[in-house]
Order: sequence, then structure tokens, then C-alpha cells
Amino acid sequence: MALTRLAIEGIGMTSQRTRDRMIQRLREQGIKNEALLEVMRKVPRHLFMDQALATRSYEDTALPIGHGQTISQPYIVARMTELLLATEQPLEKVLEVGTGSGYQAAILGKLIPKIYTVERIQALYKQARQLLDELGYRNIRTSLSDGSWGVSYEAPFDGILVTAAPEEIPKALLEQLALGARLIIPTGKQGETQLLKVITRQTEEEYQEQIIEAVQFVPLVRN
Ligand code: SAH
Repeated sequence: MALTRLAIEGIGMTSQRTRDRMIQRLREQGIKNEALLEVMRKVPRHLFMDQALATRSYEDTALPIGHGQTISQPYIVARMTELLLATEQPLEKVLEVGTGSGYQAAILGKLIPKIYTVERIQALYKQARQLLDELGYRNIRTSLSDGSWGVSYEAPFDGILVTAAPEEIPKALLEQLALGARLIIPTGKQGETQLLKVITRQTEEEYQEQIIEAVQFVPLVRN
């Protein structure tokens, strides 16, 4: 079924006013990138989750998307995207690991020319692909695979954003960063404090690590 304009714009708890309040909250939480805030003001987050949860979509919370997975809370999506964008280098091609609902990819797709996103659960991959098609995204490539191997045939990437937490950073992702590019990734064991990190590739062999804040993510599962 094709999406109607009304469905995309939303109504009541999914309306523009509700999205505007979310943006106000993100500002209060310290998100400053205006281009990003404008994109998050427009992208209909309520379509990326189950109908039954749509009225909660603009709350600042992670919500279930089935298969034991969650769509990240708006603040985390904003924070990770802001960290990715905070670079002098032009971002032409970015990889996301963990498509899930496709929401984070949709945000990236409005800011960066080419997005590759990979998901390991087939049902989520299919659903996200369909929604991104219906919303008219032509610059987002989706694939069904274990993202801890990255996407070697498309490397190097100008940035990589991982939305599931491994205990240790997968080597392939470090290797697929362009020089000067950044990897935004949560790490740590389930049930323990996980840390959001930014890893910058400084030279062929040197990486700089910066710890941002404590976070909570579903695990990055290796196949
Ligand atoms: N970015 C998503 C968040 C989804 S939660 C969104 O905006 O909705 C994290 C996702 O990572 C889940 O869908 C999970 O299935 C996926 N995932 C976990 N391990 C993975 C792996 N090794 N490769 C690809 N995807 C993985």
C-alpha cells in the first residue's frame, strides 16, 4: 500500500507539532547541528515502527521494532549523527551497521550523498528496504549481511556508524575507514556499562580513540 501524504506528515501524537517538540528537546540536550535538526524535524519517525507504538515515536526513548531489536532513542540518533558530521573532510560515502528500522539510515540519507546500510535479520532488512523505497530514498543501499565484516567492495568509507554494540571493535571496520575518517561505535558487554566511542583513522596504522558517553545498545551479533 502506498503511503499517503497524511500518513507521512502525521497527525496528533505523530504530527509536525510533536516532531517540533522533539527538536526542542534535542536542543536542550545539547544537539547543535542545524542541518541535522532540520532533517530530524522532517523525517517521519512514526513510520519506522509498529503502528501500535506510533503515538510514542517522538518520546525520547528506544522502542521495540520486533525480533528483540530496538530503534534508538532520538537523542542517540542525533548525537551519533552529529559526531559523524563533525569533521572538516567531505562525507561522500558512509556505512551504517545495523539497519534495524531504517530510521538512522533515513536521517543519514538526507545529509550524505551515498549511504550503505547492512542488517543481519532478514525480516528487518526487507521491511526497512520497502519503507525507504516508499519514502523515495534513492541514495541508500541496503544489504543483508554480518556488518562486522563491513562492506569491503565499497571501502574505504568517509565514515562508519555502528548501531549495535560489539565487545571489541571489529578489525574490518577499522580497515575500511578512509584516512581521517571516523568510526562512531558503542562497545561493551551486555548488561554492563557500554561506551560510545569515536575512532579516527590518523594514518594507515594509527587510530585515535575518544570516549563520548555511557550508552546502552543491543549486541552486535557475529554470524
Ligand atoms: N539503526 C537502527 C537501530 C537498530 S538496533 C534504527 O535506526 O532503527 C541494531 C540493529 O543491528 C538490529 O536490527 C540488529 O539486528 C542489527 N545487528 C546486530 N548485529 C549485526 C551485525 N553483525 N550485522 C548487521 N546488523 C546487525
